[in-house]
Amino acid sequence: MRTSAHLSSKATSDTPDIRALWQKDKDHFIHPFTDFSVFHERGCDLITDSQGIHVQDAHGKRFIDGIAGLWCVNVGHGRREIGEAMAEQATRMAYFSTFNNLSNAPAAELAAKLAELAPAHLNHVFYSCGGSAANDATIRLVHYYFNRLGKPDKKRILSRTNAYHGTTYLAATLTGIVSNNWAFDTLEHLVTHLSEANCYRRPEGMSESEYCDHLVKELEDTIARIGADNIAAFIAEPIMGAGGVLVAPPRYHQRMQAVCRANEILYIADEVVTGFGRLGHFFASEAVFDTQPDIINCAKGLSSGYAPLGATLISDELYEVLSTPQGPGGVLSTGFTYSGHPVSCAAALKNIEIMEREAICENVLDVGPYLEERLSSLSHHATVGDVRGSRFMMCLENVADKATKALLPVEARVGDRVAFEAQQRGLIIRPVGHLNIVSPPLIWTRGVVDEVVSILDDALSATTRSLA
Ligand code: PLP
Repeated sequence: MRTSAHLSSKATSDTPDIRALWQKDKDHFIHPFTDFSVFHERGCDLITDSQGIHVQDAHGKRFIDGIAGLWCVNVGHGRREIGEAMAEQATRMAYFSTFNNLSNAPAAELAAKLAELAPAHLNHVFYSCGGSAANDATIRLVHYYFNRLGKPDKKRILSRTNAYHGTTYLAATLTGIVSNNWAFDTLEHLVTHLSEANCYRRPEGMSESEYCDHLVKELEDTIARIGADNIAAFIAEPIMGAGGVLVAPPRYHQRMQAVCRANEILYIADEVVTGFGRLGHFFASEAVFDTQPDIINCAKGLSSGYAPLGATLISDELYEVLSTPQGPGGVLSTGFTYSGHPVSCAAALKNIEIMEREAICENVLDVGPYLEERLSSLSHHATVGDVRGSRFMMCLENVADKATKALLPVEARVGDRVAFEAQQRGLIIRPVGHLNIVSPPLIWTRGVVDEVVSILDDALSATTRSLA
């Protein structure tokens, strides 16, 4: 049995060109988040083409994209108008600095558009090149903010176990997935992890509302222990993504924010995944969870993955402090060569135009509940312990025993097995340990959902047989 998810069998169908490319990749490309025990043996699977909800590999095999690239191709693949907008910008003025007072038209337009789409008090945008960099830059800005307020001890950031905030040194430290940092160092003095909000695995006998009380109390106790004077911010994904699509109990985010407010702790919403339509709104914090973060970070769906881009949306209150000169000649000494890159911003502007024109958020609000309902119908399978998530952000948790929720041994690689079986049948989903994530382009219809659920039904049956 192959133990990892692969798209196709190479040995028989490779042309010399594909084989040469495959070899170059194998010899020189260090792939992120890749199991090298498998990679050394099998090398890569080349994805060469994409259109709409589909991608195609080098052998011409077509798959339904069940993960939107990597939670990002929200408007779907092959959007010629985004390519044209990028080409137009690249040939007109591909790049110029945004340091000092320099700017470019797409960066200025996009900042204003983001301010329009975001909750009313978030009117200022700091650009970066992706989600990790956005989170990293945010923490530096938050520290700077408190330094400027004369509160230099307010440094610690509260994050959560199983949170995913990226892999720059600082973002990796915010990340709370233990296996992600295995054998890597982190900046422990800066971050304290609270428990994740995991309703499926909450303590036995606790109602969801008691569980929420318990989590809020943990925050209060942590603040009492560390001291509010030493804590700068709390960072949270509205729905935890890579950590297992964990939907917190009702009112969790509001209550956590209230405690933060009372202790002058900033509330940072990492909307890298939940933003740009995945939950049916451009931003989920206010629209879905009724919170008013001091900062929202976004990336991925911001440009639908057509160009690297991250954005940190900052409140008026914070901006007032950040934009006060340190002294004569003092500058806000942080930023990137590619902050506000014109080509990425042009891609994002066209992406947003498409989302509005085609009512992509409305599609998620319409089809999302159907996706939830149809995926839930798979819970009759022996290995499916939980089907959870919201709208276009879904997950299956595989277990050995539904009653005890015990996991299968790691060596069973159950998530890989399900993903492999699905891929054999023309659907790409993402295995993460014992989980399988479904986070599609936001243009899936009910018909596509039916097709996907039918494939998954077969894939899960095949998985159960292979485990027997
Ligand atoms: N934050 C969240 C919630 C994410 O899911 C991710 C990536 O998956 C990141 C941050 C990091 O983004 P990037 O990979 O663009 O650096």
